[in-house]
Amino acid sequence: MGGEPLLPIHDKVVLHFIDVVKAYNGKLQIITNGTFFNDYSEKFKDLNTVIQIKLDGPPEINTFRRPNKKSSNYMFNNILLSIENYLKIGLSVCVRVNVDWHNINFIPGLVEILSKFEKYNGKFEIYFYPVSEGTSSWSKYFITEIEYATEMSKLSMDFPKLLEYNWSLHGCNQIYAHFLDKQSVGPSFSFCSASGNQFVFAPDGKVYSCWWGIGKKDFQIGLYFPTTRINDTLVKKWGSRTIINKQLRCYSCRFVFICGGSCIYKAWEAFGDIFATKCPLIEDLINIYVKALYR
Ligand code: SF4
Repeated sequence: MGGEPLLPIHDKVVLHFIDVVKAYNGKLQIITNGTFFNDYSEKFKDLNTVIQIKLDGPPEINTFRRPNKKSSNYMFNNILLSIENYLKIGLSVCVRVNVDWHNINFIPGLVEILSKFEKYNGKFEIYFYPVSEGTSSWSKYFITEIEYATEMSKLSMDFPKLLEYNWSLHGCNQIYAHFLDKQSVGPSFSFCSASGNQFVFAPDGKVYSCWWGIGKKDFQIGLYFPTTRINDTLVKKWGSRTIINKQLRCYSCRFVFICGGSCIYKAWEAFGDIFATKCPLIEDLINIYVKALYR
């Protein structure tokens, strides 16, 4: 939801957090712009760490969308340097590209630049993500999932390398994971981690089940400030929001195991109930994606 976690002003919290993760032998995922990571790279080195960096296009597009006082080439090259450094010390790096109508045609250019990291086999990945409606200042360029899939398919005709990376289409992630990432995949019993013991600590001192639900009463499952209190009944309620719950009415759907019962936030937004479902256009998305892969 925005904000850079590794700003120097946060260093006490970050260092404490590293100690806690070490003590529990945990796995760390950091979403950062890459600017300050080198300050901590030695500390993160021994942890099981995945760094996620957002880049929205080649230098001029990325800086236009993520303005900075420094020149676009300087910032962009700095981020590339950080990526190289993380990979060299053995960390995994995932570049996330938020996609909308403003930048979609520049994606091949970005992938071309990033292809130099392909040599770090298994440690480097890129994934594209269509920006959700109403979630950023770029919403005026909002692209629907179908439009996004169609455009990506067209772009991949001239630039087939796009097919090597995850398009993050609803219902197509397993296709990507199985055929391109060579992972073994199983059925999705839920759409996301909101039904899987996810705890989101929000700046308002409350704990929520879902990022999008921050500030919404129906999504609150506890408090961490000024006291810590987690409501186990609500945690159980969220844990039961899976495709085997009859309230979801997904039983007879042939896409049930790849859909996972739709995004809970979108369903709640439309119907005011976390046990409602809002079916994505899975069949159309699969048709577009599989045809592009087959071609
Ligand atoms: S497409 Fe609709 S009915 Fe089918 S699993 Fe997804 S939410 Fe349930």
